[in-house]
Amino acid sequence: MDKNMDKKKLKAPSVCFDLPDNYEELCRVDLQKDGSLAVLVNILALVIFLAGGVIGHQFVPIHTFYSMSDGMLLYFVRLAAACAGVVLYVFLHESVHGIFIKHYSGRKAQYGFTGLYAYAGSEAYFNKRQYLVIALAPIVIWGIVLTVFLIYVPESWFWAVYFIQLINLSGAAGDLYVVWKFSGMRRDILIRDSGTDMTVYAPVQEADIGQGSR
Ligand SMILES: [Zn+2]
Repeated sequence: MDKNMDKKKLKAPSVCFDLPDNYEELCRVDLQKDGSLAVLVNILALVIFLAGGVIGHQFVPIHTFYSMSDGMLLYFVRLAAACAGVVLYVFLHESVHGIFIKHYSGRKAQYGFTGLYAYAGSEAYFNKRQYLVIALAPIVIWGIVLTVFLIYVPESWFWAVYFIQLINLSGAAGDLYVVWKFSGMRRDILIRDSGTDMTVYAPVQEADIGQGSR
């Protein structure tokens, strides 16, 4: 077998519900059970949130969010809108994962809530490209929608919307982590995402060669 086999020449498998015979488990990512990974993802989320906050403050000072100079009513309406927006966002985020899961697999996604975070999972085995689209779709789509809102809302409402944008970017730290981890892997992997843990599969012989050469 050619050791210098170009990753790009590998044919991407198509989505399936039964793991092909020649595939075996390559690795697992469990953000719930792997404590140090959970800490890493939460630190990443915090860094994105704080860095995003500092950047936003350069455009519109944050005191515009908690300022009462326009009256108490506006202050509370804005606060309530931001909180409601975050709750709504969680549903919208998972819905976008679900829409792409349905699009690629033909079957509805399974939604759930662990107590810490909401998830959308599937029993399907997706190929790498499909999985990367499923993982990135919410942050990209809602990121664009929220940015358009940010351009047009009055300054007094900027931070109410920007707060949701910060949740969009930082809350997707887990999605970003798996995209980073899986994007470097070979093209013929299959990924199954139950919603709480992800398992990566690769063709048996190829996987053995890949690991042996390391
Ligand atoms: Zn997500």
